[in-house]
Amino acid sequence: MDFEDFIQDLSSLEVISKDNQKISLKLKGVPLQYANALRRVCLNGVPVFAIDTVDIIENSSVLPDEGLAHRLGLIPIKTDLSRFNEPSKCDCHSESGCSNCKVMLVLDSGDSDVTRTILSEELSSEDESISPISTKIPIVELAPGQRVKVECYARLGRGTEHAKWNSANTSILTETDKEDERILTIESTGALDPKQIVLSGVEEVGNRIAQFKEAINQINE
Ligand SMILES: [Zn+2]
Repeated sequence: MDFEDFIQDLSSLEVISKDNQKISLKLKGVPLQYANALRRVCLNGVPVFAIDTVDIIENSSVLPDEGLAHRLGLIPIKTDLSRFNEPSKCDCHSESGCSNCKVMLVLDSGDSDVTRTILSEELSSEDESISPISTKIPIVELAPGQRVKVECYARLGRGTEHAKWNSANTSILTETDKEDERILTIESTGALDPKQIVLSGVEEVGNRIAQFKEAINQINE
């Protein structure tokens, strides 16, 4: 069976369990190399949003600017793959990006006379569908009078570039006691629905194999 047959015959994928975060699939008669390629792509080959550029307007917290930018980068961001392009594939061909490949999120803590923790709920996005997966992720603790004001730009990327773009927390392949049958379990970071990770993963592996075939054909010509 090659991967194209596998894609056409998705009946070889059987969903065993599924919730908002996790999906388990039975792979029957799928050669180990394809099962493993799918596992890897589901982990770090499906694009998701993460904050990539941060303009620090004010930061009087004890956390240095680069520490603050790093923490913002690691916040998982809900992702809508149908509406956005990866910057390298966007029609704008521009380094500064456009509304189809870049989303701005702003955070202004203001100042307060009590010590408090700034949470991800204070990040406001210009696009409702692209926002932190949870409102309760701590970003920085501020003492009275301290303030953080930043403009962040999120974009699609892949975990192969930086782990902040990983689409899954875990992606595991386990053998069953039956011959030629394996279980693939994927736990989403929350950026995408687990089922969508699998569907995009299957498409991605198919595309990579097609590109590889094309490259080989060009060598032969
Ligand atoms: Zn663009």
